[in-house]
Amino acid sequence: MSNPEISKKSEELKMSASVEKIEKPEEENPEALKAKVRLLQGQLTEALNVIGYLENEVENYKEMAVNDKLTGLKNRRAFEEELMRVAKEIHFGRAYPERRQKFYIKDAALIFLDIDNFKKVNDTYGHLSGDKVLQEVAAILKQHTRDTDFTGRWGGEEMVVMLLGAGEKEGAQKAEELRNALMAKEILVKDSEILRVTASFGVAAFGEEISGDPEMWVEFADRALYEAKRTGKNRVYTFNQIMEEKLEQFH
Ligand code: GH3
Ligand code: MG
Ligand code: MG
Repeated sequence: MSNPEISKKSEELKMSASVEKIEKPEEENPEALKAKVRLLQGQLTEALNVIGYLENEVENYKEMAVNDKLTGLKNRRAFEEELMRVAKEIHFGRAYPERRQKFYIKDAALIFLDIDNFKKVNDTYGHLSGDKVLQEVAAILKQHTRDTDFTGRWGGEEMVVMLLGAGEKEGAQKAEELRNALMAKEILVKDSEILRVTASFGVAAFGEEISGDPEMWVEFADRALYEAKRTGKNRVYTFNQIMEEKLEQFH
């Protein structure tokens, strides 16, 4: 209330109130008045409780709308939003270098990963063990990335990481780090059995050709992932690697 504008306003109100003729309310029995006040207080408390409950519910629904329940990673919908946001920011930063200061994200790399032979895990150890594997993979993604990076579940046993400030080289290094961490992880299932899984990785950095079409960025990372699967799984492939190999075929 130290704001001079507010103080002035409140003084004006006091002045006008003192000059206006205030009508006296009808006389009422003090006990009846007290009862009325108690009733109103009760109603107010009830209303506040309802508001608190609804606020909580809204928070829960907001969480559910962007998070994957099983892994705790962000879901596909959240990924699509983040993809648009990041692509736009990098694009504008590059298109208007004089206003570059306004755009904080200069580069980003997408990593798509798909657990190898995951169906076999489910078939051999059961669906619950499969779920445990998904949770462990998600935990590795979280442990090896920063809070500002994006880690999400694309769907099924496919996950996605968006590394901010990274180009293709850094993206490939991070994917290699994740691949090794996963390979080394002993996953405990059915109380006593130890399981190891591997995953294949596709990497694509944000490039000029993508600027108007972020979907193409996803497409590139997906193609790199497909190549990692096709050439034997448990490996990292980058989109440029595919392009370079294609070029070599012409020489
Ligand atoms: P590849 O190495 O080619 O990726 O083979 P894959 O067996 O991993 O792939 P495939 O697409 O044949 O099988 C994926 C399996 O993932 C099938 C599906 O039942 C399972 N899956 C998808 N979502 C979940 C889930 O939430 N929990 C569990 N336990 N399994 C899931
Ligand atoms: Mg798959
Ligand atoms: Mg798979």
